[in-house]
Amino acid sequence: MSKNREAVDGRVLQKWNHQKRDYEQYVVPEDWKVSLYSSDMDKLINCPHCGKTIKFGDGYTSKEIHNHMGFGYSVCEKCHEEELKRELKWRRT
Ligand SMILES: [Zn+2]
Repeated sequence: MSKNREAVDGRVLQKWNHQKRDYEQYVVPEDWKVSLYSSDMDKLINCPHCGKTIKFGDGYTSKEIHNHMGFGYSVCEKCHEEELKRELKWRRT
């Protein structure tokens, strides 16, 4: 890695893989505004799964996409439902 780690930190996320039971590196485009936390519920952010623009207050805490500390990013409702389905499916197998 030649680039300053700080500069790319916000763009390289971790995505939980149920099959592997481990995190995979998950990179989002530079111009996506992904968010872990905001005190402004009207702040516009991008869902880290699909890139859809949502208000922070309308987002759900991701069960899959986390930062290096394990905090979940805010995702849109549709992707949140997909995450729940994946988790449920994995639990059943
Ligand atoms: Zn989404």
